[in-house]
Amino acid sequence: MALIKVQGVVLKSMDLNDNDKIITLYTDKLGKVKAVAHGAKKQSSKLMASTQPFCFGEFLLYKGKSLYTLKESSINESFQELLLDFDKIIYGSYFIELIDGISEDENKNVSLLALLLKTLYILKDTDTNLDLLKLTFNFKAISLSGYMPNVKTCVRCKKDLDCGYFSIIQGGMICSKCFTPERDIYGINKETLTFLRILKNIKLEDLRDINYNKKTLLYVETIMDNYLNYYIGAEFKSQMLIKKLKKSKEMV
Ligand SMILES: [Zn+2]
Repeated sequence: MALIKVQGVVLKSMDLNDNDKIITLYTDKLGKVKAVAHGAKKQSSKLMASTQPFCFGEFLLYKGKSLYTLKESSINESFQELLLDFDKIIYGSYFIELIDGISEDENKNVSLLALLLKTLYILKDTDTNLDLLKLTFNFKAISLSGYMPNVKTCVRCKKDLDCGYFSIIQGGMICSKCFTPERDIYGINKETLTFLRILKNIKLEDLRDINYNKKTLLYVETIMDNYLNYYIGAEFKSQMLIKKLKKSKEMV
């Protein structure tokens, strides 16, 4: 029986039966994998705490015919204090749901794991604006998955530009000369393009220091949400919750 030790984050945890759980892990060595955690539903089980969603730890796995089995685990950071903050838990759920949706089984991407972890730590430890964090996470996650939007030059003629249009279908900026009407195309002024370029280059830990216009943030958020939906597919459950949360705040 070959055992493999991985570091990873629990993306999902589902009941398999009265005693056992099946968890989805995003790991450094294997990418996304599903593993059965025998007895993890029992209070007395050593596996119980480390198989909660968000938990970051070390996991000792062995491979069965179709699934892995979790043999041992230890917690580095449980992130369970996110559960105490209603807004943070919704955004946190979005981050792990997106990683689950964006990645295929056993296709490893260590940078994506690093992005997820960094985002969860910032979510837990700082008061960074949640929409700004989500937007930056989206931009970086989709880029690390091979769909980085081109915000540097026109995707058609490759010329530099400082305003123009953003085409979801063509994957980036289009200058006014190359522009032709199509669906999912957005006008981009200088300020918005500057903001897009900041998102591309900024480190997550520096997000708190940037100045941004709320309207620009909302506009770019809509573009990125649609960009993600176009390249990844389904809209996420937690995305709906974020929308509801925002609506309820507008009404207050
Ligand atoms: Zn052009």
